[in-house]
Amino acid sequence: MIIASNFKTNHTRKSTQEFVSFVDEFVKNSSSSVEVRIYPTATALNSFECDKSIQVGVQNFYPVQNGSFTGEIGFEQLEEFGIKSVLVGHSERRHVVKESRELIVQKFDFAKQKGIEIIFCIGEPKEVRESGLDTVMEYVLKQLDGIDLDYDKLIIAYEPVWAIGTGLTASNEDIKETLKRLRETVKKPLLYGGSVKVDNVEDILNIDNCDGVLVGTASWKAEDFCKMISTAQKI
Ligand code: PEP
Repeated sequence: MIIASNFKTNHTRKSTQEFVSFVDEFVKNSSSSVEVRIYPTATALNSFECDKSIQVGVQNFYPVQNGSFTGEIGFEQLEEFGIKSVLVGHSERRHVVKESRELIVQKFDFAKQKGIEIIFCIGEPKEVRESGLDTVMEYVLKQLDGIDLDYDKLIIAYEPVWAIGTGLTASNEDIKETLKRLRETVKKPLLYGGSVKVDNVEDILNIDNCDGVLVGTASWKAEDFCKMISTAQKI
C-alpha cells in the first residue's frame, strides 16, 4: 500500500519539517509497512532523515541537470537533497499551469533516465466522465501515450480532474470500474486520488486494484495523514 501526500502550495519550511518529523515518529512507533510519500513545496526541501518506508519527493522539476531556465529547478538541485521520487502530469500542472503533453513526456523520460520513482498522474475532466467509461478510458489511455509502462519505478495515479480539491470523490463503483480497465494496460501500482479523506480512505483502499491513494487537501494535517497510514496498515 502506498499513501502519498501532495502539499501543493501549502506549508512552510518550518511546518514541513514538523510534518515530516511527526509522520516519521508515527511510522517508527507503529512499525508500519505502508509506503509513505510526501511531496512538499520545493522551498521546504531538506535532507530529511526518515524511516526507509518514507520518501520525501518533489511535485515538479524541469527536465535538465542544470542550465539557464530562469525560475526552474533542475535535477542537480534535487540531487542535493537526495530526491528519489517525483510527481509528473498532475492535473493542476496540466490544466492550471497549462503544461504541454510534450513537456510531461520529457519530464517522464528525464526522471526515468535518472532511475527515480515516478508517480504519473492521469485523469479525465467532468464532461468526459459524463460521456461514460469508454470515453474516460480513451482519454486516460491517451495520456499514457509515450510513457514507458514497463519502467520499474513507475506508479500510476488515477485522479479525475473534477474530483481534485473539490470535495467531490468519484463513486466507489466508478473508481472500481476505471481501475479494473486500467489494470488491463498497467501492471504497475495504481493509486486513486481526488478528495480522499480520513472518512472515505478505508472504502477506497478496499477497492480491487487500488494499491494506494494520493491525497492533497485532507493530508495536510499530519494527524489526519497518519490516520490514513494507519488505515492502510490494517488492510
Ligand atoms: C492531489 O493533489 O493529487 C489531490 C488528489 O488533491 P485533493 O485530495 O485535494 O483532491
